[in-house]
Amino acid sequence: TPALDVVELKKTYANGVEALKGVSLSVQPGDFFALLGPNGAGKSTLIGILSSLVNATGGDARVFGVSVRTQRSAAMRLIGLVPQELNFNMFEKPFDICVNQAGFYGIPRAVACERAEKYLKQLVLWDKAFEPARAMSGGMKRRLMIARAMMSEPKLLILDEPTAGVDIEIRRSMWKFISGINAAGTTVILTTHYLEEAEQLCRNIAIIDRGRIIENTSMKQLLSKL
Ligand code: ADP
Ligand code: ADP
Repeated sequence: TPALDVVELKKTYANGVEALKGVSLSVQPGDFFALLGPNGAGKSTLIGILSSLVNATGGDARVFGVSVRTQRSAAMRLIGLVPQELNFNMFEKPFDICVNQAGFYGIPRAVACERAEKYLKQLVLWDKAFEPARAMSGGMKRRLMIARAMMSEPKLLILDEPTAGVDIEIRRSMWKFISGINAAGTTVILTTHYLEEAEQLCRNIAIIDRGRIIENTSMKQLLSKL
């Protein structure tokens, strides 16, 4: 079974905008996959559907065989989402932010505490784990978003423009951490509008434009065409 199998997925918003006009793509287990496209292409809509924040109006997407439309809660357990905006409480401690996240998944507290330590250490946030999150640097805040998403140990980690608006040094450091998560066995999909980011990180790529997939190939093949 593919990690992700999207078939003829469609989304028309209430205002008539056709954000996805029949998108199909598939991502293999263990892959590091980039979804590249300009603003307005439909990337957030696709991610929104995968993470059950947006209702599709046609087609389907299966995560390890589980439909995000008809088996929503089972699909949500397989996916970790790193949204673009920092959306944790800056007054909470990173350790608590992670442990509370595990609570949403019904993970026992002892396991949650172990995992929080594991992922906060892996993302080099342990030093700040017990201070309010606002004490962290911009790069650390971004990494906390990733640690939090790992708390449910998702089989598929989806990152929406994980490095948008951060400087090149932080971007490079984040690439290293995201690659580490993929190397440890998690399938990773990220959206980006930096080709360089896709090029540095990803094995396979889909390019989306105005709600359609216009290219779906290996990074190597794409680069040989440019
Ligand atoms: P739907 O009910 O079609 O899924 P939402 O509830 O997500 O739509 O959004 C409600 C309204 O918010 C839309 O009809 C639109 O007018 C507006 N809206 C929100 N985000 C955007 C956006 N990125 N571009 C254009 N309009 C938007
Ligand atoms: P991207 O993430 O690639 O920038 P989006 O999925 O946000 O693209 O947007 C795709 C199209 O759908 C755009 O034309 C956008 O304005 C529109 N759109 C996004 N969200 C909404 C919404 N809630 N309501 C109406 N239109 C939306």
